[in-house]
Amino acid sequence: MENNRMQSSCNSILTCVTVISPTFGEKRMQDVLINDNGDIDAIEEHDANRKIDINSQVINLEGKFIIPGLIDTHFHLMATGLSELSVNLLHATEIPDIQELLAAAKESTDEESWILATGLNEEKLKEKRPVTRAELDACCGSRPVFIDHRSLHYAVVNTEAIKRLGLLDEGTSGGSGEELREGIIKDNLLNKSRQALMRGLSKSFLQKSLRYGSALAAKKGLTTVHAIEGGELFGDEYLSILLDIRDELDTWVNLYWITTDIDAAHQKGLQSVGGDILLDGTLGSRTAALWKDYADEEGCSGVLYRTQAEVDEFFFRARQAGIQPAVHAIGGRAIEQALNAIGVAEKRLPGIDNRPRIEHFGEANKAQINRASELRMGVASQPPFAYLRGGPDGVYCERMGTERASQLYAFRLMLDQGVQLAGGSDSPVVSLDPILGMHSCINAHYEAQRLSVQEALQIYTITGAWLGFEERTKGDLQVGMNADLVVLDRNPLSIEPTSFQDCEVLLTMKGGRIMFNALG
Ligand SMILES: [Zn+2]
Repeated sequence: MENNRMQSSCNSILTCVTVISPTFGEKRMQDVLINDNGDIDAIEEHDANRKIDINSQVINLEGKFIIPGLIDTHFHLMATGLSELSVNLLHATEIPDIQELLAAAKESTDEESWILATGLNEEKLKEKRPVTRAELDACCGSRPVFIDHRSLHYAVVNTEAIKRLGLLDEGTSGGSGEELREGIIKDNLLNKSRQALMRGLSKSFLQKSLRYGSALAAKKGLTTVHAIEGGELFGDEYLSILLDIRDELDTWVNLYWITTDIDAAHQKGLQSVGGDILLDGTLGSRTAALWKDYADEEGCSGVLYRTQAEVDEFFFRARQAGIQPAVHAIGGRAIEQALNAIGVAEKRLPGIDNRPRIEHFGEANKAQINRASELRMGVASQPPFAYLRGGPDGVYCERMGTERASQLYAFRLMLDQGVQLAGGSDSPVVSLDPILGMHSCINAHYEAQRLSVQEALQIYTITGAWLGFEERTKGDLQVGMNADLVVLDRNPLSIEPTSFQDCEVLLTMKGGRIMFNALG
């Protein structure tokens, strides 16, 4: 009887598969039964004579491997989707290339819409300067064009865009007039313009962008993204669009609204806020608040954007409201501010489990890593940063010298000390691919950063779930949990670590539903 009931409620069966878990290791030749609620009903040894309900979907995965659905704890969904829908200028080598790419986009999109582009990098252009407003007018005329520099620190627009963004008056008053004549917008004007651009994009385009970002994530094996959205960069208007379609997206989306307004977040019923509340800047632009001067600029050790009292207030008010706060801190001095504030809040209001987070956590020293493990908090870091930018020829060595750069992003020490460390990408800042993320820790440049395959899997699964308060339902393959899972073409536990990034995602399932399928 018992058996029949289970089988009749079973929606899908994945047969003959090796199940790989960050907690129980691997089990070969299993059948995974998934029920109508999208939960894992059973994981049992393969049984060729299993009675299968006529309504069940059976997927024979002979020779394949299942891991839990991967979780990206620092992801920008709208920005990822928008950059996917934009013209990519990264490979342009001269200004006529850019004009040609934009002209092609003009032909292939509808007449009223914006032409968006990303990845402008004048250093790679023969002309060694950005494209100008006049050059954009020449190729795209009546269509509004908005080009983001790859750093997102400035944008270039044409005359039609200036009209539509309401920037006409700005050009005649204030210091930005000269630059605007060339089509360049930066600083406050850039934030204002990007927010105006967001208001000018149609609701259906914004929906499409969110769907694109999420579909791309599912294709790479992500089943949950912690989406850090709104705030100064894009404005808050699109958040309601995201909340409306959230359940239809290819991944689960945990929203982190970029605001320090705890009351407003509380009113919206949000569980988490922040993410990119900046305590300091970045290493690339020498604004991360380092312990000591940058190696390549004397007298410069970065910037703290907030006072300790402000940071204390944010963490305290969030804890009071039972909301999870998250802040961006890369340099050691910014990390110190965050740890101090988390410590103070915990002391004043003990016994509340709101799991405050520090994002990035780049230059944390040993004492800070110890403190992070003693506090009930999480770290959301991005292994590809250290891998792609942290090698001997990378920008981190340039900024800090090899010795200090080799101590950055000390994932090994963090896990050894028991820090709740979770992985992510900061997409679109780096590729959203979590296989690359895990590869980055397994093949890290320095010992203090290097993790085993199991540990890499753990930071992209169970700890990510913990950071999202979802450790009971996500992050592992246990009976009763969400059927969030990924089918890989090879066994990640037994391949050469240096080849880890060759693992291919063949299928992604979110809550028992297939979101991506390359099995054929
Ligand atoms: Zn970010």
